[in-house]
Amino acid sequence: ATAQGADRPAVRGTVPPSAQAGLMVQADNVHKSFGSLEVLRGVDLAVRPGEVCCVLGPSGSGKSTFLRCVNHLEKINAGRIWVDGELIGYRERGGKLHELREKEVAAQRRSIGMVFQRFNLFPHMTVLENVVEAPIRVRRESRATARDRAESLLGRVGLADKLSSYPSQLSGGQQQRVAIARALAMEPQLMLFDEPTSALDPELVGEVLDVMKDLARDGMTMIVVTHEIGFAREVGDSLVFMDGGVVVESGSPRDLLANPRHDRTKAFLAKVL
Ligand code: ADP
Ligand code: MG
Repeated sequence: ATAQGADRPAVRGTVPPSAQAGLMVQADNVHKSFGSLEVLRGVDLAVRPGEVCCVLGPSGSGKSTFLRCVNHLEKINAGRIWVDGELIGYRERGGKLHELREKEVAAQRRSIGMVFQRFNLFPHMTVLENVVEAPIRVRRESRATARDRAESLLGRVGLADKLSSYPSQLSGGQQQRVAIARALAMEPQLMLFDEPTSALDPELVGEVLDVMKDLARDGMTMIVVTHEIGFAREVGDSLVFMDGGVVVESGSPRDLLANPRHDRTKAFLAKVL
């Protein structure tokens, strides 16, 4: 993208000026281009507090880009995203959008946890150090407070006995569970998962999905990009099918999986089911 294009979010269409009440995430008409490649072409999405929203779609359809836009790792070119009623990345004044300062963006990101396909743990730190790092450095918590929460979270993801292990000594499933605990240590109000089990050996997928199920039961609001249809059906409150940078259709997981309405959804499901 040209620097100009990236810095200037054009406001197109008739986007409502504020968030709807009662939604944790609201995306309206979100557009994102990389140079001449338009990756998101008007994504609309709404997620209620406590909802698990699963996102399905072929490779290259813009799923990761959308998640990255939600926490402003990518700047959108048009549209709006609100998290808990707060506009992400921008302040609106006199009908114009002004980009937030880096500190303000960082503050917004703190309330959003993200877990990637690759675990991205700090290799030179123990499991415990990985989990307490951000609470101490970013939230300025005391080591004792951060450690207490980290131990409790690591217990919750089944790794109470691995506090002093290094990432390289853990299986992929264990590393991903540490990554989830690390995200939770910041006490986010929203968790974004980008294909969290795609890089795992098949026998390790279940332990990570179990941790996510537990989190869902506990009321966490989650957007989960996944190809795990069973998880979407069992745990998802809603299922969104993306293709070509738009939400093609969405609905309850059972309905959408049993009765996809659009040809693109049918074609995709025929391949993965
Ligand atoms: P998905 O997660 O659904 O597989 P992505 O959001 O990763 O899709 O990518 C959508 C499209 O955007 C792809 O064509 C990808 O190559 C392109 N893309 C993603 N990130 C960038 C980037 N930083 N620069 C250029 N193109 C990108
Ligand atoms: Mg992706």
